[in-house]
Amino acid sequence: MASDTENLQSRLHSIEQQFSDVEHAYEALQSSFAQMQTVYEFAFALSTFFEFDDVLTFTKDRFRDSFDLDGMRLTLVDEAGGLMLAKAFGLLQKGLPATTIQHMKSSLATRKTVRMDEVRVAHRLASLLCVPLVARDGRKIGVMALCRKGRCSFAIEEQATFEKIAGLLAVVTDKIQTYERARTLSFQDELTGAYNRRYFNLAFEREWDRCQRYARPLAIIMLDVDFFKSFNDNHGHVEGDKALRQVAALLTKIMRKPDIVARYGGEEFVILLPETSKEQAKKAATKLCKRVERERFDHEETQPGGKLTISVGLAAFPQDATAQQTLVELADSALYSAKSDGRNCISWIGKTQTSSSEGKPKSVTEQADEPST
Ligand code: GH3
Ligand code: MG
Ligand code: MG
Repeated sequence: MASDTENLQSRLHSIEQQFSDVEHAYEALQSSFAQMQTVYEFAFALSTFFEFDDVLTFTKDRFRDSFDLDGMRLTLVDEAGGLMLAKAFGLLQKGLPATTIQHMKSSLATRKTVRMDEVRVAHRLASLLCVPLVARDGRKIGVMALCRKGRCSFAIEEQATFEKIAGLLAVVTDKIQTYERARTLSFQDELTGAYNRRYFNLAFEREWDRCQRYARPLAIIMLDVDFFKSFNDNHGHVEGDKALRQVAALLTKIMRKPDIVARYGGEEFVILLPETSKEQAKKAATKLCKRVERERFDHEETQPGGKLTISVGLAAFPQDATAQQTLVELADSALYSAKSDGRNCISWIGKTQTSSSEGKPKSVTEQADEPST
């Protein structure tokens, strides 16, 4: 009898044990299912983005809202190989201790997650996970640091989930960065690094629409290097190319950030000046002319006047043209006037002539006096 009771008790205990094992297994399954679902949702969302900023914003929001974290910092490797901040929140937003940065760097260097179960972040005891973002071919893309208050706050399964998400982020980041690099290259003039004519046309289209819709001013500058054939004839194309690159770099440096400096062809450049009145464009053109004249170019002593110079033509909306194509044609015809008026000067379509009905407007030319800026 006693042994029957013992037997029953032992079986009951074993059933209880099995039941508890099943419960644990069920919980583990549920948690790994939840993690798989999280990774799946991440992958799905990331595959729908085209803009890199959307990827970063989504990642930051999702990490902030779904993982009960106290801080996150996503950094990406920049062109010089340094780490550049992309997104951050909470304790890892600013005032980062040098040790945290060190952990992030070493995670990237080893391409392995660095896990610190007891660190100080913003004067609090916290746990830190630094997960590297590595492309399929092993290139380092960035590193993501996550922190939660308290000791040993990250479960092993969670770490695995974050590593999977970091893998997805690395692939998407790499894809978008490669696409953006290719896009930038397709808009760049190979020789000078300025924008190419294709990009100018797109930008002009966009700016023209904008200036029409909001009745804003817009100006175009066309310029051409003077006597450049003789420069090439005297010093060869390689030296000519060098001078062209120097001109392009100078133009880009002088103009404001919103202005688009593009190579229109040969030794001719076009500049789009959004939000710029005709008077302001004249000042900009004068400045260009004077600055190129002042710039020191190799071999320029053989050029007429002993200097490498440019001639500049300009036209502006709304005074000069109400049709998009006409604006470029007028700037070009002003450039021809500057050439025939002696070069190294600027020219524009005279306002009174523009409104006359006698065919093509005439341009007026001025020797460029440096504006007092
Ligand atoms: P102008 O003052 O009337 O503009 O005289 P120009 O000699 O500059 O004009 P022309 O149109 O007779 O000659 C333009 C020269 O620009 C001819 C060509 O050798 C040179 N050129 C055009 N594109 C390039 C280029 O990509 N590299 C080099 N090195 N030279 C170029
Ligand atoms: Mg020329
Ligand atoms: Mg030319």
